[in-house]
Amino acid sequence: MKREASDRPPERAVYNPPVLGYTLFGMTQLELARKGSLSPQMEAVAQAEGVSVEFVCQGVAEGTIVIPANPAHKGLAPCGIGRGLRTKVNANIGTSPDWGTVETELEKLQAAIEAKADTVMDLSTGGDIRAIRRALLSHCPLPFGTVPIYQAGIEAISRHGAIVKMTADEIFEVIEEHARDGVDFITVHCGVTQRAIERLKREGRRTDVVSRGGSFLIGWILYHERENPLYEQYDRLLEIARKYDVTLSLGDGLRPGSLADASDRAQFEELLTIGELVERAWEAGVQVMVEGPGHLPLDQIEANVKLEKVTCKGAPFYVLGPLVTDVASGYDHISAAIGGALAAVAGADFLCYVTPSEHLSLPDAEDVRQGVIGARIAAHAADIVKGVKGAREWDEQMSQARQDLDWEKQIELSIDPRRASQIHSRFPSQGNGCSMCGKYCALKLVSNFLRSPLESV
Ligand code: SF4
Repeated sequence: MKREASDRPPERAVYNPPVLGYTLFGMTQLELARKGSLSPQMEAVAQAEGVSVEFVCQGVAEGTIVIPANPAHKGLAPCGIGRGLRTKVNANIGTSPDWGTVETELEKLQAAIEAKADTVMDLSTGGDIRAIRRALLSHCPLPFGTVPIYQAGIEAISRHGAIVKMTADEIFEVIEEHARDGVDFITVHCGVTQRAIERLKREGRRTDVVSRGGSFLIGWILYHERENPLYEQYDRLLEIARKYDVTLSLGDGLRPGSLADASDRAQFEELLTIGELVERAWEAGVQVMVEGPGHLPLDQIEANVKLEKVTCKGAPFYVLGPLVTDVASGYDHISAAIGGALAAVAGADFLCYVTPSEHLSLPDAEDVRQGVIGARIAAHAADIVKGVKGAREWDEQMSQARQDLDWEKQIELSIDPRRASQIHSRFPSQGNGCSMCGKYCALKLVSNFLRSPLESV
C-alpha cells in the first residue's frame, strides 16, 4: 500500500517559552511532570514525536525521558530524549587551541542543523570560548550542551598558571555562567572520584583516559589530593541545575578509549557512582541523563546498555559511538554507526555522533555533515525495530517510490537528499531507471513482464 507523507514523524515546532524567574513557572520539567502539569515543552515534544503528551509527562516524571530546555534559551525547539521516543543524535562542534573561530563554528552549526542533528554541543577550548558559546547559542534552535569544566580549566591557566589550580568556586561559577546563558544540558564528570582513580591505577590500561573533562579532573584530584568537587559538592551543582532547569549529563570521564580497556573495573566503578547521583538528581527535581562509551567490541555493547539501564534506574543513556574497532581512522563515523545502531537497539536513547576526523583532527563542516548522517542512519535503523512511530513507514514509502521509479520522491525521502540527488544525476540513463542497469532495469522489466511476458526493452 502506498503510504502518505503524513505517516512520517512531524517536524519539531519552535516554542519560545515565557521566562518567569529562572525556571518556567519556578519549577523544572521534572517537578511539573511529577505534579501532572503538562508544560508547553512536553506538548511540543509530544507533537514532534507523534505520541500523547501524557506519555511524555509520565516519562519525564519517572526520569526515563528528559527535555533539556533552559527557559533562557530563546528560540528553542524542545526535544525529548528517552524511552519510547525516537533515538536522538548529537553533533559536537567547537574550537580547539589549534584551530577554529566564531565563523567556522557557526558554519559547523549550520551543517549540523541542515543534516538534522537533534542537539548540538559546543566543546570549544580555543579562542574566546565565552563569545563563541554565546554566538552559537543565539543561532541554535536545537537543545544546546556544553562541558563547563573546559572553560574553568582553561581560565585557570591564565589566572593561576595551571589547569589543576582551578578552584572549586571557579568551577561552579563557570557552571552557573553557562546556565545563565541558556545552555540546556551540561556534561559534568561527577563520577570521577578518588576511588575510581585508584581502580584505574591498579588495573592499568592500554589508553589511560580519553575524556578531556575527565583528564582535567583527574589532574585536579591528584594535585590537591582531595575529592572531585563535582562529587563532593554535588548538592551545589544540583542547586544550580534546578534553578535554571539545566539537564545534567553525567559524563563518563573514565570511558574506554580502546577495545582493550572496554568494560574494565574503572569504567564500572564510575558507573556505580553515577547511578547513585542519578537518584540524588531526581530527589532534587533535576533532570539527568548518563553518558557512556566510547570504544566497545560488538559483543559488549548490549551488556553495557543493559547495565546502565539497571544501575541508573532507566535514566536516558547517551553513548559516544560506540566505536566497534580501534583501526577505522578516517572512517570512524562508520565504526560509530555500527556501534550506535546496536546500542540503540539495546536501549540507548541518544547517540553522540563521531566524525571521519575522529582521532585525527578537528572536524570541518563537511565532517560534521557526514557524522550527523552516519549517526542518523544508526538511530533510524534502531528505531525501525524499536517500534518508534513513523520509523518503519518512512522505509515503506521509500520502497514504494523505488518500485514506482519515482525519482523525485526517492530523493525527497533519502536521509541525505542532497547527496542522493548528486549521485543520481552523475550519469544519465536511457530508461526510467538509473544508470546502474539502464534499459535492463529489473524493476521496469518485471513490471513489463508481469503485464506481458513477451514485452521486452
Ligand atoms: S536501473 Fe537497476 S539499480 Fe536503477 S532503479 Fe532500476 S533496478 Fe534499480
